[in-house]
Amino acid sequence: MPQELHKQASPYKPKKGETYMSSKQLMHFRNILEGIKFELGRDIDRTVHTMQDEATIFADPNDRASQESDMALELRNRDRERKLIKKIDETIAKIDTGDYGYCESCGVEIGLKRLEARPTATLCIDCKTLDEIREKQVAK
Ligand SMILES: [Zn+2]
Repeated sequence: MPQELHKQASPYKPKKGETYMSSKQLMHFRNILEGIKFELGRDIDRTVHTMQDEATIFADPNDRASQESDMALELRNRDRERKLIKKIDETIAKIDTGDYGYCESCGVEIGLKRLEARPTATLCIDCKTLDEIREKQVAK
């Protein structure tokens, strides 16, 4: 069951001299990504149910206000989950095209360790760091 793998999956241990992003490595990361996606999908289903269950109108304005902010929070979470699912789909597409594991910006190997921690990483640590510095400068 690939969807159950992500929590138990131990980090991939490449054999000596194994090629970076060998088919086994790609399989490993695909399982992780599909596992995360599966869990996110399950969360979204649950949120929809919760919202339908709670769609009662409270007579007390205080109850109503807290219900509305709960809903706003749920919607924000859902939005974030949807975006993450989209990102995971894009990442899985990269596995299919053979682009997975390489930095989008400079083309170097992102590295197994980094991908293990962030399976959706598209930048190597150097480019990511530069990116963050740039973002901070823009924010100022
Ligand atoms: Zn890079």
